[in-house]
Amino acid sequence: MRMTKQRKAIVETLKQNSNKALSAEMIYQKVESENLNLSTVYRTMDKLTEAELIHKTVVGTVAYFYLAENEHKHFMICTNCQKMIPIGCLIQKFLPDLAEKNHFKVTGHDITIFGLCEECSVL
Ligand SMILES: [Zn+2]
Ligand SMILES: [Zn+2]
Repeated sequence: MRMTKQRKAIVETLKQNSNKALSAEMIYQKVESENLNLSTVYRTMDKLTEAELIHKTVVGTVAYFYLAENEHKHFMICTNCQKMIPIGCLIQKFLPDLAEKNHFKVTGHDITIFGLCEECSVL
């Protein structure tokens, strides 16, 4: 995949907000790049997700994006402030058993826990 100026700007924005899950609209508001409109952001997010440079997680009706990291982990996402709290993988060790029991070839999994962080739950 070619890293265009816009793709770079979006990846850079995700880097600077690495403790947050951002929706395409939030990214659009944060990215400082000319000639960028919301539909370009949506298309770019699709491309970056396809290239596995970023991950996407859908909470309700909103898709959030965050940078892919080498280490396999999952997140708790605050639906009020979008803070991401990394958590270890809870399911990895059970997968071989589950796969065998269900005669299922597992090719991936996605777990996101959502709710309110400490600060937001006291509001
Ligand atoms: Zn919060
Ligand atoms: Zn996992």
